[in-house]
Amino acid sequence: MQPLMYGTAPLTARLEPWMEQLLGDAQACREVIREHGSPVNLHEFSSMSRNIGELRRAAADHQVDFQIYLARKANKTIGAIDQAVAEGCGVDVASFHELDQCLKRGVPAERLIVTAAVKSQALLRLAVENEVVLSLDNIDEALELLHMADERGRTARVALRLASDNPLIAPTRFGLRAAQWLEFLEATGRLESLEIRGVHFHLNGYSGTQRAAVLEESLRLIDALRDLGHAPDFVDMGGGIPMSYLDDAQQWNGFWEALAVLPEGDESLTWKSDRLGATAAEASTAVYPYHQELIRGQWLDRILASHPGQGSDSVARMLGQRGIQLRCEPGRTLLDGCGMTLAQVAFVKTRSDGLPLVGLHMNRTQCRSTSADFLVDPLLIHTATPRRERSGLSAFLVGAYCIEEELILRRRFEFPHGVAAGDLVAFPNTGGYLMHIIESGSHQLPLARNLCRDPEGWMLDAGDERSMEWQVLA
Ligand SMILES: *Cc1c(COP(=O)(O)O)cnc(C)c1O
Repeated sequence: MQPLMYGTAPLTARLEPWMEQLLGDAQACREVIREHGSPVNLHEFSSMSRNIGELRRAAADHQVDFQIYLARKANKTIGAIDQAVAEGCGVDVASFHELDQCLKRGVPAERLIVTAAVKSQALLRLAVENEVVLSLDNIDEALELLHMADERGRTARVALRLASDNPLIAPTRFGLRAAQWLEFLEATGRLESLEIRGVHFHLNGYSGTQRAAVLEESLRLIDALRDLGHAPDFVDMGGGIPMSYLDDAQQWNGFWEALAVLPEGDESLTWKSDRLGATAAEASTAVYPYHQELIRGQWLDRILASHPGQGSDSVARMLGQRGIQLRCEPGRTLLDGCGMTLAQVAFVKTRSDGLPLVGLHMNRTQCRSTSADFLVDPLLIHTATPRRERSGLSAFLVGAYCIEEELILRRRFEFPHGVAAGDLVAFPNTGGYLMHIIESGSHQLPLARNLCRDPEGWMLDAGDERSMEWQVLA
């Protein structure tokens, strides 16, 4: 059957069974929106278990000691933390409140790592008092932490955040080069109050080759730290583990080919003929690669089997010889399949020049990452009893902010059987970043509620319960 809605250049989402089941139940969709308002973020975390399993199997195949820490910033629900911990994973936290929430939720200290880019005194104190490992970013942070630990007679547990000096890797604002860390440690000498537990890095992008190279660099730093009398026992390779939102490589490549030859000013595919970075290769910085060949387990397998150093050992062997645990902090890829956003159609109209528009009870910060667009087709559910007849159209989705450029998505969509106020639009697979990373409460519009699936139905996430007082539905 032809879908009720698809991109003019289609990018068909891969759906999980729970999404298909809900999308097939118009009554259930209507009820969720009636009770919780539009948009609403729906979570079902069973896919996380599959995602974790794929990574663990790859590590086990190489006999690599391995642990996963869910990057909390990718999704703000407590449900995500609970699921990760139930699966035996830890959590990577990036602020005082993320750490505080995890501790209060009962996540044990050894299952936590603090990777915040800038760390408040309160965050340093909370980590030290609870013996949580901090990823150290710079010397000022290290000095502040040591002062705090000394004052309290405590030991600070840290991982050194490594900024690679490999010329093939883009310069980074995060961490320090190995030589800078070693110089600092040689100057301060061994300290009672400092325990170096590991080495940490996180790279932009999704390159397995780059990660293999920085793993090798990290192991050289581990060796140097051991020579200085420290006893680090893990390397944490951060996140950026790839996933795929789209199954069809041809659709993905076809979309970029079509966009490349679009005449200037032609809005048949994108708003104001937006090139979104022009070609798939150039777009790699502008948008997420929504289709990727190598993901999760296979991607990790390649890294572990690769030989990045001068010697002939694989990454897996280099780790094993040193008794080093490999850790990672995936956000997006663990949340693959765990979320969907549902929004209600407010109106169907035309721009002043006649271009069709479909307005949603939603704003563009509610389905957007730092990427220029979410390149996955939403699905339409005819839930309304329309006041006006539906007729086929080709339109853009616009949102609630009072800005001309307030597009929910920048691509154009076909509605072969029309769309009416009161219908629902579902954005699939929004659990990683899309719902939360840039959402704003501008215009005093309420933030979307977060619901988690449990045997009794859709329940408000524990993290939302507190904020209900001010979250009065508009
Ligand atoms: C954002 C971030 C992650 C998660 O990245 P993903 O692309 O979601 O896997 C992990 N570690 C650090 C330090 C980060 O900043």
